[in-house]
Amino acid sequence: MATVRLSLQECEAICKKALSKAGLNDAATKIISENITKAERDGCRSHGLFRLPGYCMALQSGRANGKALPEVKNIAPSCVLSDARGGFATPACLAGQSLLVEKAKTNGVAVLLIRRAFHFAALWPDVEPLAAKHGLVAMAFLNSQAFVAHWPGGLHRMYGTNPMAFACPRRSADGLSDKPFVFDQATSFMARGDMTLAAQSGESIPPDAAIDQHGQKTSDPSAGLKGALLPMAGHKGTCLALMVELLAASFTGDAYAFEAAATSGGDTLPTQHGEVILAIDPERCSAGGGREAFLQRVEALFDMVQAEAKEAEAAGGSLRLPSQRRWANRKRAMEEGFEGFEVSEALMSQCVAL
Ligand code: NDP
Repeated sequence: MATVRLSLQECEAICKKALSKAGLNDAATKIISENITKAERDGCRSHGLFRLPGYCMALQSGRANGKALPEVKNIAPSCVLSDARGGFATPACLAGQSLLVEKAKTNGVAVLLIRRAFHFAALWPDVEPLAAKHGLVAMAFLNSQAFVAHWPGGLHRMYGTNPMAFACPRRSADGLSDKPFVFDQATSFMARGDMTLAAQSGESIPPDAAIDQHGQKTSDPSAGLKGALLPMAGHKGTCLALMVELLAASFTGDAYAFEAAATSGGDTLPTQHGEVILAIDPERCSAGGGREAFLQRVEALFDMVQAEAKEAEAAGGSLRLPSQRRWANRKRAMEEGFEGFEVSEALMSQCVAL
């Protein structure tokens, strides 16, 4: 596959031009362009520049509202509602964040509901700053377009790939670490973006990732994209997919994946959904000693993981924490003379055309 090399600055500039031309308001254009660029910086290819055509298509088709500005409402002592009003989720998430933090610090626990939103991004940017900047434990749940079958047994697309993310603050020598513990994953065996990338580059997919249109497991990503994705870890993934649907759609009043699919007339355009972010302040919620004692307990666990990693390395293996790959990519991009990232020529010309 022919590729071209792009700097992060070039990436952000391309995004800004394309999104603005597609009708997105200035504030959201800045936020989304930064978000895409951060995904490339951290090596999250399935949510980097690859997403730009999808954002633009959502705007040009009129399904996403480029003019919408999020509206934040204080709806209960522990609950903030950020209404994206048919725009993208990331600006609505950012708009609601400061009130979420204030409420979590006052009450110990708080929830941000994001509704009527189109979410094309990874979930880690929605939780990472809550842990890194504010010392909160945070969890995010998002339901999405119906692509995943109820497994075992199901034949049809019922649930979204329904990602969930978790962030927990960590201690550094001078306070909070800017590298908290974060994981962020789809509840499907594979994210659909990765399956699309596999189809584009002619790679096969693991046999448990998807079924074809006849309900048979397949390792052909194109057949899987036409059929249905499978949940992670068999029936346990089905449990998680259901949990995310319930959290993200029931509290926000937004569509379950199957409802959104029914009203979209089966087209491939993105559908509008809800997201729920839960924030817990260890200063108020831990049983003894507040944030300091909590962070000490947290580090005890990671000391153990580090010791295990050393043993694994000595035995010729390796283990790592989630996000370590992202931190390493970020460090390289920020400090170590990052020479840009590779993007396929085909995607590049699509983005430039946009
Ligand atoms: P991955 O399976 O790639 O990774 C899941 C998590 O596991 C990450 O936190 C990752 O950390 C960690 N991890 C990976 N390998 C290891 C390892 N060897 N040891 C320890 N930890 C590991 O994620 P998915 O493919 O499930 O999801 C990809 C992205 O897609 C997510 O960001 C998700 O939010 C997004 N998504 C967005 C949707 C939307 O509608 N907006 C829908 C579905 C998914 P690391 O990053 O460091 O590798």
